[in-house]
Amino acid sequence: MPAFTGPHVDPLHFQQCDCPTLKNLRPSPPSDRRSPVATLHLRLLETTDMHGHIAPFDYLDHRCPRQFGLARVATLIHAARTEVPNCLLFDNGDFLQGTPLSDLPPLPGGWPGPHPVIAAMNALGYDGVALGNHDFNFGLEFLSNALSDARFPVTCANLHPLGKTRLPAAPTLLLTRRLRDEAGRLHDLRIGVIGVVVPQVATWDRDHLQGRVRTAGITETARAQAPALRAAGADLVVMLAHTGIDDTADHPGLENAALPLATVPGIDAVLAGHSHRVFPGPDHDGLPGVDSADGTLHGIPAVMAGFAGSHLGIVDLRLALGPQGWRVQRHRSEARPVQRTPGTPPAPADPAILRIVGRAHNQTITAMGKRLNTTRIPLHSYLALIRDDPVTALINAAQTAAIARAVHGTPAGGLPILSATAPFRTGGRAGPYHYVDIPPGPFRMGDAVSLYPFPNTLTCARITGARLRDWLERAASGFLRILPDRPDQPLLDPRFPGHAFDTVSGVTYRIDVGQPARFGPDGALIDPDARRILDLRIAGRPVRDDNLFLIATNNYRAAGSGPYPALGDGDLVLGPTRQAARQVRDALTHHIRHSAPIDAPRDTGWALCAVPGASVRIETGPGLRRHPCDMDALAARDLGRDSKGFLRLRLPLGADAPLANPPQDP
Ligand code: MN
Ligand code: MG
Repeated sequence: MPAFTGPHVDPLHFQQCDCPTLKNLRPSPPSDRRSPVATLHLRLLETTDMHGHIAPFDYLDHRCPRQFGLARVATLIHAARTEVPNCLLFDNGDFLQGTPLSDLPPLPGGWPGPHPVIAAMNALGYDGVALGNHDFNFGLEFLSNALSDARFPVTCANLHPLGKTRLPAAPTLLLTRRLRDEAGRLHDLRIGVIGVVVPQVATWDRDHLQGRVRTAGITETARAQAPALRAAGADLVVMLAHTGIDDTADHPGLENAALPLATVPGIDAVLAGHSHRVFPGPDHDGLPGVDSADGTLHGIPAVMAGFAGSHLGIVDLRLALGPQGWRVQRHRSEARPVQRTPGTPPAPADPAILRIVGRAHNQTITAMGKRLNTTRIPLHSYLALIRDDPVTALINAAQTAAIARAVHGTPAGGLPILSATAPFRTGGRAGPYHYVDIPPGPFRMGDAVSLYPFPNTLTCARITGARLRDWLERAASGFLRILPDRPDQPLLDPRFPGHAFDTVSGVTYRIDVGQPARFGPDGALIDPDARRILDLRIAGRPVRDDNLFLIATNNYRAAGSGPYPALGDGDLVLGPTRQAARQVRDALTHHIRHSAPIDAPRDTGWALCAVPGASVRIETGPGLRRHPCDMDALAARDLGRDSKGFLRLRLPLGADAPLANPPQDP
């Protein structure tokens, strides 16, 4: 597979890592001052939120090798194992979804063999694996099938199956491992492992899980399971916690619960994840209870290994055997990066892992290259947050067409069909190259995946005009307020991710960013008098509060996500229908395959209002420079790149600005 040849890699890279010695492990509070009978060093390794990234290869853009992925982490795993006498390897969930390689097997005829992600994980000898929320994206049957090939035990303690449902996971694990102490003697230790997942999974994936599982809170689950494992003989209890670290107060539905989890008695280490951050590291500095220098949450050793195989998490424990059994005496946490600094060579990919996924890898490349249609225009998302964009329009057109077919001849069939979607690749934390950019010419399967990277399912609900206006006001919170007669005002609120910016097709409207936002980026009502949505019309007539519509959207939005509240179950016309759960991406490829070649949308659905005398600044991908016509059409001025590599643009927003006065087709 020539695609794997990366830059020259210094084979000494790993020997430069500062390997831990016991003297630089951090001390725990002394519980027993008599000298212990035995001491041993146990290392816990963590991967998390791998999201199907195995080979260091971008299936949507073959040009550059990726600087992360499990094949590269595998090299760190091998090195970390040689540094210590005793080592256990865990994964913390979200391994099964996220790349064309991992998302191919669920497709009809996609991949006949064992799931390539599971096959790669089998080769690394995991001691235990927890389930993440995304591992449920393709349904329980698919998950069970994929895990039937797993040669590692799986734990999930806070999802309880209902009725005849079977979960392909045990609530907890009790592993027995023969470990070598510092004097060379062997001891059998029992390690209790508790997997927990964010309880939101039951809502986000309710198409698959409604009526089939009951969820329990993360900390309440740990409070019950840790003493149970101790009573069953565990010498040590490790949390495989698919949950992030933030300072929200604990409650049963808490999503990011790693901090309160660390206060649960009887837990010796917290392996965290889900939020795709790194711990120890500056990502969580300043949070109460977090000590990044010590690598602890409320004094308990913890780690979070980033995202997509960016890091290997390491927790080193020095255990002492005293009259009370084995106790953690010292500890040390490290998130070891695959690439130490940008621009330096990353860890090389383990050739054994590449061999294992080789055939699925090649089939994925073939599948992504399958031609669906032709596009006559470039399709890019560099401007998708500031204009009615062809990329979002295409997704909305596909959702509308799929719903029109689904409701045809039903009682809901007479209502106007609207569609809401956000653009999914708009830079942000994923960086200046995380954009759609498809040139005119063949439109392939990989391009559809680039437009819609997630296996979200299609949902449709009945809504009123009032609810529609509320929806759009929430989306309009993505803009900062722009004052008249001031140059260079930042336009986009950095707290508002691009994937929360829904645009709605089937109606027309304007967004007045000169007004204050009605809602905050979290959806909280901050100014009940504020209105940014103007001229909301359907077929030229003003939308009334009591007008009724159907609106197509995805399962996450329907369940309530970001600034949007959940749609009422009674309003859903489609979904949760786990038998018929259809991926939006499937609707998109169907629509493109059966449509005329892709061309510029004929009319504009929404635009910003002018703010007299104002100009605004945005950051977008430098790839926009390949589309000078689009820059000229908005009178955008190129201000060069910022320190992260984003392209800075200045855009006029005054009375005659093209951004505020898009051309209308006569
Ligand atoms: Mn994840
Ligand atoms: Mg997750």
